[in-house]
Amino acid sequence: MQDKNILLIGAGFSGAVIGRELAEAGHRVRVVDVRPHIAGNCYSERDPETQVMVHVYGPHIFHTDDVEVWDYVNRFATFRPYKNRVKTTAQGKVFSLPVNLHTINQYFDKTMRPDEARAFIAEKGDSTIADPQTFEEQALRFVGRDLYEAFFKGYTMKQWGCDPSALPASILKRLPVRFNYDDNYFAHNFQGMPENGYTDLVAAILDHPNITLDLETKITREDVAEYDHVFNSGPIDAWFDHALGRLAYRTLDFRKFTYDGDYQGCAVMNYGDVDVPWTRITEHKHFSPWESHEGSVLYEEHSRACGPDDIPYYPVRMVEEKKMLADYVAHARRAERMTFVGRLGTYRYLDMDVTIREALDTARLYLDSIKLDAAM
Ligand code: UDP
Repeated sequence: MQDKNILLIGAGFSGAVIGRELAEAGHRVRVVDVRPHIAGNCYSERDPETQVMVHVYGPHIFHTDDVEVWDYVNRFATFRPYKNRVKTTAQGKVFSLPVNLHTINQYFDKTMRPDEARAFIAEKGDSTIADPQTFEEQALRFVGRDLYEAFFKGYTMKQWGCDPSALPASILKRLPVRFNYDDNYFAHNFQGMPENGYTDLVAAILDHPNITLDLETKITREDVAEYDHVFNSGPIDAWFDHALGRLAYRTLDFRKFTYDGDYQGCAVMNYGDVDVPWTRITEHKHFSPWESHEGSVLYEEHSRACGPDDIPYYPVRMVEEKKMLADYVAHARRAERMTFVGRLGTYRYLDMDVTIREALDTARLYLDSIKLDAAM
């Protein structure tokens, strides 16, 4: 079988992992990115002033139940144990997230045990909502109006720029409600933080003699003809010149500030009240508890609609976007020798582990398909 000439658009996890798999199978791989750095929105770097490792595009915590994905990332980086313990400031108090027995007891000023709290919250939940479709219905059904308004409504309006009744229930399903004191934000078996940051991890994945990397490189339709196959992790609508309209994204603005010492005592503090303009404040040094830093770097995070020149972060996926996406996907299926991958290429709210799982599967499918072609 002859080696293939492969182009990967985007040097985030999708591009790096697919590129690596194909490079290891002996193919010639070129990875390009329009930005001046690899790792996409997972990019991390040391702050020059304090040496703190900063998650430049917002907090990223690696968590998965997928043994193969966990082994994969551990092949390329040393992971340190890290548990994400998030707090939220709401209605003048600090609470523990995700909503757990401590949150419930503190909020309602009670000392309930698990079974009592479960019954209490079941009573608060709106049992007339049989099959919750929207974010709001999901919240009212499972936690009731008080907790919804304290912890979810305001945050979600700021994060998504719309009323939670216009958002799908799937967004809230990312967060558990617990009737014990477990305040680990994620329930996955494997959780951690790459010791030297995500940029190093992606660099190690890309470090293969069959891979060439070109940053600050924009690819147009005319450039792709010379490749046997292209994997595109850029925005699917942009590839088709937004011919069917723009898929909506949220972008983030970060107000960076420094502090001499420990500003907030945890990595992530959410703000549930709608009149506080930011959604959360991240104190990056707490992501590397094995390091010690006197100084501290903080990002106050503000969410807004993504304009044409902004960096897309979160796909909004309201009803009209889903229809537009289906039309783009139909276009994409007709695009020869091109596969759309990743958060932007498929317009889905993917976590890092799912992105890597899909990248591994995509690479394998492609390798199988060319083996099959060669055998025919
Ligand atoms: N959310 C909320 N209050 C919080 C944290 C999250 O209402 O304090 C909602 C919000 O709509 C958010 C979603 O839950 O977009 C998913 O939260 P997650 O922490 O998974 O968001 P990410 O870290 O990916 O931004």
